[in-house]
Amino acid sequence: MMPLEVLEQAQAELPDWQHTGMSVAEVSHRSKEFVACADHTQELLRQILGIPDNYRVLFIQGGAFGQFAGVPLNLSKPGDTVDFVLTGQWGTKAFKEAKRFGLNPIAVTDEKASNYTTTPAQGTIQPTEGAAYLHYTPNETIGGVEFGYIPETGDVPLVADMSSTILSRPLDVSKFGVIYAGTQKNMGPAGMAVVIVRDDLLDRARLDTPSIWSYQLMAENNSMLNTPPTFSIYLLGKILEWVIAQGGLDGLAVRNRTKAETFYAFLDASDFYSNPVAHDSRSWMNIPFLMANADLNKQFVAQAEQAGLTNLAGHRSVGGMRASIYNAMPQAGVDALIEFMKEFERVHA
Ligand code: PMP
Repeated sequence: MMPLEVLEQAQAELPDWQHTGMSVAEVSHRSKEFVACADHTQELLRQILGIPDNYRVLFIQGGAFGQFAGVPLNLSKPGDTVDFVLTGQWGTKAFKEAKRFGLNPIAVTDEKASNYTTTPAQGTIQPTEGAAYLHYTPNETIGGVEFGYIPETGDVPLVADMSSTILSRPLDVSKFGVIYAGTQKNMGPAGMAVVIVRDDLLDRARLDTPSIWSYQLMAENNSMLNTPPTFSIYLLGKILEWVIAQGGLDGLAVRNRTKAETFYAFLDASDFYSNPVAHDSRSWMNIPFLMANADLNKQFVAQAEQAGLTNLAGHRSVGGMRASIYNAMPQAGVDALIEFMKEFERVHA
């Protein structure tokens, strides 16, 4: 979900944005109003995440999946070794995509044995010497598996797919070579990825990298090499203003932690529901849960929907249920879910 006040603001100014007599979706991306809007969005993101000056912020189309290709194209050449830490489905998809680019991808850690319910113990990730980068997924959205630490990779640039955890808590950007995230979780509507890239990595792209995915070309053109996803950039700016009003990432971290802890405490105390993820690897954003009797899943999801609790079906690949409690979900939403679950258990246990 997105914050309701953001949607209401956008609704109010949609027909006549900034006295242009048009909506933001209609003005030219080269108009002074839109250029100022995109600059404002970028400035807010820099301020909120404390992005150091030696990093570029790019708005790139193609979502996070686009960056599964964008990263290898920009950071490696054919034959290079690239490292992957696999803790779930999205990292595995990124790993498979890297194989399309003539690389030698190595899974330096693969948590498959735990059925992707764990993260590697801190200090155990060993990058391959000379690897072009090491890629990991700080929060695996489907499994609800989140790292409690940032891996140390020495000279090997660290690349993170932060799609489902960015802006959920403070982050030390200086530890990363590249951070990318699809925007449709904590950053607004679908349609683009935000890429944060360290300056010294800008000149490594292959010659045949499509221009719209070239970090260097996009950086040189302030993400306006072609028409950018203007509405997504505009709405991201509004969401970032909302983030500041929530007390920034410190404020959101307290709220997110409390929401997650409330829900895990409920699941752990229950004999009827369970969460399979190791305690040190539990996501603050995506919480899968199961019932011993999986035959009840359909009924659970349908009745929850009737009670106004939506999108609770687990990912189609894993089944079960999953509560997505991104930044905009209030504590009251988690409390309402717990109340519903208690009643469902009373009837069906
Ligand atoms: N990575 C992660 C961690 C995701 O959660 C998702 C989407 N849920 C993706 C990548 C793919 O993102 P997109 O649909 O924006 O390409």
